[in-house]
Amino acid sequence: MDSVAEIKSKLDLVEYIGRQTQLQKAGRNFRARCPFHAEKTPSFYVFPDRGTWRCFGSCGEGGDLFTFVQKRENLDFRQALQELAREAGVQLSAEGAERRSRMEQLSRIVSVAVDYYQRQLREAGGEPAVGYLSDKRGLNHDSVETFRLGWAPDEWRGLRAYLEGRGHDLRDIAAAGLLVEPEGGRDPYDRFRGRVVVPIADERGLYIGLGGRGLQGEEPKYLNSPQSELFDKGRTLYGLNLASAAIKEAGEVVVVEGYMDVIGPWQVGFHNVVATMGTSLTEHHVGMLRRFAKRIVLALDPDAAGVAAAERAGGLLLDLASPEGMARSARSAESLTGASQIDLRVATLPPGKDPDEVARESPEAWRTAIATSIPFAQFLLQRVMGGKPPTSPVEARQTVDRLRPVLNSVTDPLERGVYIGRIARFLGVTEQAVLERVSQRQPSNLGRRPTGADPGPPPNREEMLLSILLRHESLRGSVRSLPVDLFNESVNRELFRRWLAAEEMDVEREDDPVARHAGRLGQLRLPPLSAEDARRAASRKVEEILRDRLVQRQAAVSEEVAEAERQFGADHVARISNDAWRGALPADDATILAQTVIEELELGVSIHRQEVTELN
Ligand SMILES: [Zn+2]
Repeated sequence: MDSVAEIKSKLDLVEYIGRQTQLQKAGRNFRARCPFHAEKTPSFYVFPDRGTWRCFGSCGEGGDLFTFVQKRENLDFRQALQELAREAGVQLSAEGAERRSRMEQLSRIVSVAVDYYQRQLREAGGEPAVGYLSDKRGLNHDSVETFRLGWAPDEWRGLRAYLEGRGHDLRDIAAAGLLVEPEGGRDPYDRFRGRVVVPIADERGLYIGLGGRGLQGEEPKYLNSPQSELFDKGRTLYGLNLASAAIKEAGEVVVVEGYMDVIGPWQVGFHNVVATMGTSLTEHHVGMLRRFAKRIVLALDPDAAGVAAAERAGGLLLDLASPEGMARSARSAESLTGASQIDLRVATLPPGKDPDEVARESPEAWRTAIATSIPFAQFLLQRVMGGKPPTSPVEARQTVDRLRPVLNSVTDPLERGVYIGRIARFLGVTEQAVLERVSQRQPSNLGRRPTGADPGPPPNREEMLLSILLRHESLRGSVRSLPVDLFNESVNRELFRRWLAAEEMDVEREDDPVARHAGRLGQLRLPPLSAEDARRAASRKVEEILRDRLVQRQAAVSEEVAEAERQFGADHVARISNDAWRGALPADDATILAQTVIEELELGVSIHRQEVTELN
């Protein structure tokens, strides 16, 4: 049994949802007022037999235990998995548990180092660093304390001796990224020497690494803990542990490039700022951020390096340099802006200053720059069209091809139309010509065929649909408009989301039930289908799933009517339903009953009428 199934078997969906919302018995099922939208009459159902729930009211949400927790607590699938595993007492995997406990062990060592460096700042030797922080960087005592800034004295083995003195193993200290291990097995020494030390925490606040900055512009200017099992720059956003509440409140997160650019704005009251620490903004970063806010503003200093970094920051999102980069960009930009409705913007700060100086010296300038940020697509368009117009058809074509991923990432048709118009004017061609070039499909070589996994139980409709999709990347465009909540099973839903985003998955990873599920589905025997047949087969599955949902709803409603008949007598129910049809709605409880009766009749009609859902 995989971890998801095990958790579901240990936790009772009805009990779990019942903690959050008042459930009434409705036949074999339960009914409640929907916890996800405001309503007077309950249209939220829990189906214990299937382990699913669904709102048949205006929000239409549904899913299983995992999706309920995700939605309720604003978590992604992985986090919900962790939380529920904890609650159910399920080990996600021996390997995963071991890795986690190793990480926690290393994180404790970093935490001791943070204490040590913080103390060094207050000692006599820390005076130059204190001076630097207050005079050069303009930071007050409060900021220094909040961000737990410290000082690494210019010693070879000060920290090492301190940690070893406290019983930590030399190998662990090195694994925590705190030591440099010279070639040839010579004696390891402190990585951070003569630097101001900035502790880096993960979003839960566990220390995973350090950043160091010299006082006199020593090289490298910024020194970070090395990439390790503990510290992964591509998955870390500096300051997120402190900023998440403010981000949520503002509905907006500002992304900068260095930790000082987080601390400066913080000091003057802008608490929704995080830093990427010199890497591009990755999909992981965006995945972390979109749980807190839908609007991501890249704040960049406008000198050349800063602008180059903007494209890089788009980087993973939008790498326009090479054809491969572009294909990858198209995917990530589409998945970011399409499926998750991320509003990605670029703010240009006043020139000549670091973001942290701008904020501290003129909070108003910061506020204005953020408020007047422009959509990322527009920013890139301006960049590409900043030069002189192409002189040959080949160049014009290349220009449009470079912009294609940008345009594809724009979901709003009006916005897209405006851009198309601008490009057409820039190139001196018709909008129609640009449109045609943009909508030509690029060859797709995305994703990987999953291999090697154990066969599980026979696939249901959701899984059949997914296994078709996994084999036919070309369907990605056609099914993009499908809601992810088409899938009731959270694992299927997550797999669909990842497939849409063309995320790579390691099907061997024991602690990733979604990837393993993909592996299983990849092994299902399917007849070889042409692209057109696959599209039709997928279409049929979608139709079956939707129809099944309608049938389920009717069954739930019918059961309630039957129960009412048992309780009040068939005559009574018939009378109410007659009155209801004539428009005379009875008072109190009977109203709900009458509505239920009407609903049943209407559902019967709509099931017969349900049209074929055609994918385009
Ligand atoms: Zn609802």
